[in-house]
Amino acid sequence: MNLKKRIVIWYTLWTLLLTAIIFLLFFSFSNTLSIRSLRHDVEEALSDSSSLIRISDGRLNFFKLDEVDDGIYISVYDEDGTLLFGRPNATIDSVPYREGQRLLQTIDGTWVLSDMMMAGCYMRASSLQSSIYAVLASDYLPLLIAAPFFVLISALGGYFIVKKSFSPLEDLIATASEIAGGRDLSKRLDTSSSTEGRMLASAFNSMLSRLDESFRKEKEFTDDASHELRTPVAVIKAEGEYALSSLDDKVEVEEALSTIVREADRMNRLISSLLALSRSDKGTLKVDKKMFSLSSLLCVIAEEMGEIAKEKALTFSSHIENDVSVFADEDMIARAVVNLINNAISFSKPSGSISFSLKKENGHALVSVADDGIGIRKEDQERIFDRFYQVDKARTSSSSGLGLAMVKEIASLNGAEIKVESEYGEGSVFTLSIPLKNF
Ligand code: ADP
Repeated sequence: MNLKKRIVIWYTLWTLLLTAIIFLLFFSFSNTLSIRSLRHDVEEALSDSSSLIRISDGRLNFFKLDEVDDGIYISVYDEDGTLLFGRPNATIDSVPYREGQRLLQTIDGTWVLSDMMMAGCYMRASSLQSSIYAVLASDYLPLLIAAPFFVLISALGGYFIVKKSFSPLEDLIATASEIAGGRDLSKRLDTSSSTEGRMLASAFNSMLSRLDESFRKEKEFTDDASHELRTPVAVIKAEGEYALSSLDDKVEVEEALSTIVREADRMNRLISSLLALSRSDKGTLKVDKKMFSLSSLLCVIAEEMGEIAKEKALTFSSHIENDVSVFADEDMIARAVVNLINNAISFSKPSGSISFSLKKENGHALVSVADDGIGIRKEDQERIFDRFYQVDKARTSSSSGLGLAMVKEIASLNGAEIKVESEYGEGSVFTLSIPLKNF
């Protein structure tokens, strides 16, 4: 039996039970009340009637007395039990007389009797409270007939509400099965149902969107990676074949071999970046954080990179504040900074200048690399940190677009942040901000 049916049956049984309990409580309460009011009425009728009996010439006179007063029988008996006034009644006539009130249970119901001794005779007031079944039949019959309809309506209503509440769950199961069967993550659930259903559907939809997005990114990443690896492999193959066909020409062979080595280096760099990014994604990239002098590290980098910049006829200046230490992975920070300076060199204009600096500001060590090169358009600034994104692929045929993605990953692994400010055609400033208290 499914959950829907179980809920409805459970709920209907409880409604039935509750209705029966309420009904019985009502019945016993109204029964008690009606007996109480009947006892009161009988008492009142007896005292009213007793005041109407007159004794004249030693005889009882019943002129103004009614035999039946508002459903209450009035009768008068002498001491031997002979009926002097009123209607004969086999049930109550046989009950011995005694001052006061009593209840008499018969198959018809409950008799309320009250006797009063006066001037050598008994006056009796009596009334029958109809049996439980008679009361039920008269007062509660419409209710008894209506009760099963109420229970039925409540069961049906409950069934429809449960059915409606479960429909997003059923949609969810159907959509999940469709996705499992066809791997189509673009499917979404209908969010127009009840509040809870809408919340469930929206949560499921946003999970699907995230899965869809991450699968799309993964696919893009794999496509880009294979594309990037195909180029050096093709060059290596072509150069190898060329070298084999020109074995007699030492110069040509040397040239082909050096191209092969260069492309192999490029592939090596690419593969290490891919490996590092994938380890970082999986959370298995080892981050060896320790306290180190950032000032000393940057001085060494400035010297080495300054040489490379000068070789390319670029002006390289550095302003590095002393005694700045941070808690981070030194190798990773070095890799990120070298990457930023390499980019500044690659994207500089001829005889351009690069400014490299380190300063402390607001509890952070700010490492910035500024160039007056080609600059980056606003729309590209948001995408340059994406994996494999290159603004102008033709300009940097030897790179892969993984450099800044790696810098961003390094920054986040070390609690740092990377920002870019750039004017197209004017130059760019990349700033790596590392918190000074990073532990
Ligand atoms: P690449 O391997 O192409 O250098 P990066 O991820 O390091 O990859 O950079 C992504 C893109 O960002 C580059 O292709 C380039 O278009 C742009 N870029 C990065 N640094 C600079 C810079 N200093 N000046 C202008 N453009 C830059």
